[in-house]
Amino acid sequence: MTGIAAASFFSNTCRFGGCGLHFPSLAELIEHIEDNHIGEWP
Ligand SMILES: [Zn+2]
Repeated sequence: MTGIAAASFFSNTCRFGGCGLHFPSLAELIEHIEDNHIGEWP
């Protein structure tokens, strides 16, 4: 894995369709997903 690929893998990017937001920590990413995406699931 290249440095760029590793940085991408650990960049805490929201993978939900059409979102793509980045967060400085995994905890913040998880909180974002719970607040903005989980509730949208059927
Ligand atoms: Zn998101």
